[in-house]
Amino acid sequence: MQQKVVYVEEQEEPPGRCPCPDAFPFSPLSPSLTFRQRHFPLATDNDWHDWRWQLRNRITSLKKLGRIIDLSDSERQAMAFNGATLPLAITPYYASLISPDDSSQPLRRTMVPSVNELLVSQGEEHDPLGEDKHSPVPGLVHRYPDRVLFLVTDYCSSYCRYCTRSRMVGRRKGYNPARWQKALAYIAANPGIRDVLLSGGDPLTMPDEQLDWLLGRLRQIPHVEMIRIGTKTPMVLPQRITPELVAMLKKYHPLWLSIHCTHPDELTPEATQACTMLADAGIPLGSQTVLLSGINDSLETMRRLMHGLVKIRVKPYYLYQCDPILGSAHFRTPVAKGLEIYQGLRGHTSGYAVPNYVIDAPGGGGKIPLIPETVVGREGNDLLLRNYEGKVYRYPDIIGGASRAS
Ligand code: SF4
Repeated sequence: MQQKVVYVEEQEEPPGRCPCPDAFPFSPLSPSLTFRQRHFPLATDNDWHDWRWQLRNRITSLKKLGRIIDLSDSERQAMAFNGATLPLAITPYYASLISPDDSSQPLRRTMVPSVNELLVSQGEEHDPLGEDKHSPVPGLVHRYPDRVLFLVTDYCSSYCRYCTRSRMVGRRKGYNPARWQKALAYIAANPGIRDVLLSGGDPLTMPDEQLDWLLGRLRQIPHVEMIRIGTKTPMVLPQRITPELVAMLKKYHPLWLSIHCTHPDELTPEATQACTMLADAGIPLGSQTVLLSGINDSLETMRRLMHGLVKIRVKPYYLYQCDPILGSAHFRTPVAKGLEIYQGLRGHTSGYAVPNYVIDAPGGGGKIPLIPETVVGREGNDLLLRNYEGKVYRYPDIIGGASRAS
């Protein structure tokens, strides 16, 4: 039976921020317990660790949010339009990481609407990546020759305010096996497709049985060599990573996971445990991070995030320049800032901790890497290369033992 949720007035000091990720995975501290006792006093341990309980008790309204955090004027005004734009949803677990009194706290800004998202700026678009025009059947984007993006659900446990697919997620459009059939038929009919990325929405919010069915169908298609799942679940709903889910996913290797992470404060003991379970099941884990103004656009924050990810066996994979969706200007940084951060990582830390910095080209051009200039010229047979410290080195660019004419 569903547990009735009772909200009580705040009586104590707000819970502390997420402990430093450097302490993980050994720190026994968890801000979620204090939060739970205050805001969900009837919830048992079992409830809190049950992903379905977390989904049933998501914070989705101004009233619920206002009981948990001290809303700023901007947040309150934005909530008056909730429903007209991307919906609000935050799992109780993730809400426990959000500052109740600081509206500029990075995790809070990623989840709580602000009035800025109602302002549309030049160059912003509903579907900046042109996904809809590269969609041969509903829910499938076929942009690159050998791989497809399969949008299997429009549901997420928590909605990121900068979501590239804010035009479609959270709309409850009935993504289900009946809808998937056309996409599966398209994949089966196109032998050039060797890689299928399941995304949405967040595929790991689906029940095990549905996911099992879908993965099983994909594995029956001989030319599908690899399956990837794009998800934010380990960061916003780590309770979802159960032994049963992991055992099911293991059946479908080679299966890769791309985990959406935003800030080092997300790397809690719970998220660490979720990633550890997935990695122990032999699932290669990569990360995807969107560069966001005032949230993670400093070298120090990005370095902590990338180092924290490597420590929990997640390879930093992509750092995205924020897509120009409607109302995203307050999240976007100049590309120069991203290049500066990239340059501050490359060479200064392990290559495994350096993601590819990319722009997903507006209009559907695909991902374009942004790389600071390293080839600075040529002198005779020598290629002039700039290293991570800005020093120039010569490389004898001779092919087959013979000098190349200059
Ligand atoms: S989890 Fe992914 S799909 Fe869902 S709202 Fe966040 S960015 Fe969008």
